Amino acid sequence: MEARELLYEGKAKKLFATADPDRLLQFFKDDATAFNAKKRGTIVDKGILNNAISEVFFRLLENAGVPTHFVRRLDDRHMLVKRLEIVPVEMVVRNVIAGSLAKRLGLEEGRPLPEPIVEFFYKSDPLDDPMINEWHVRVLKMATQAEIDRMVELTLRTNAVLQPFLAERGIVLVDMKLEFGRFHGEIVLGDEICPDTCRFWDSSSGEKMDKDRFRRDLGKVEEAYQEIARRVGA
Ligand code: ADP
Ligand code: MG
Repeated sequence: MEARELLYEGKAKKLFATADPDRLLQFFKDDATAFNAKKRGTIVDKGILNNAISEVFFRLLENAGVPTHFVRRLDDRHMLVKRLEIVPVEMVVRNVIAGSLAKRLGLEEGRPLPEPIVEFFYKSDPLDDPMINEWHVRVLKMATQAEIDRMVELTLRTNAVLQPFLAERGIVLVDMKLEFGRFHGEIVLGDEICPDTCRFWDSSSGEKMDKDRFRRDLGKVEEAYQEIARRVGA
């Protein structure tokens, strides 16, 4: 499937049209941004690793009954996906207190939660992705109540599939951000699932193995992405 016109260039990927109106090509870049693009850099071969890691997760999820946009990986940096109408809501699921949850509620990073917490954020770069709730999503017509319920269900199912898979490989799934969209009336998981969009901590050392190494200048960023790819068999 050959790429046609560039439809969108985001912070981590480019989206290209294809001859099939139902299919897009995702091109994974090495560009890294944090704090809503106030910090910019490059993580060598990040695009290759995120493409491969996302493929592993999408295949696992499809087999577990989570509909995803994944069709197939075409090469190192290209993934063929279903073209979705993206719901402008970032769904976050958390298993361990970290990041903005720790900050917002004044909690210590690292405490496991007794059950997962699901959060909604409005996907808007100019507004810095503000946190919202189901009422905003429904009343402002970002999604219907049925779509919200389905996104919550699929977010929790995704977490329930990936958490034990990663635990077996010595990785704690601390939290992750998911994006959903509509495909012929169905809610489908889109975008990417990788160390850019998840927090992964090494189970024994607690060491961070994700984009926090870049955000917080912890060094060994490339090594962490490579190690995640190795452990998940990407
Ligand atoms: P951003 O800077 O907005 O995060 P990315 O660099 O991650 O952008 O590029 C991916 C963009 O494509 C995102 O805006 C995401 O919402 C959108 N997207 C992801 N998967 C699909 C899909 N299957 N169909 C249409 N749009 C998608
Ligand atoms: Mg993105």
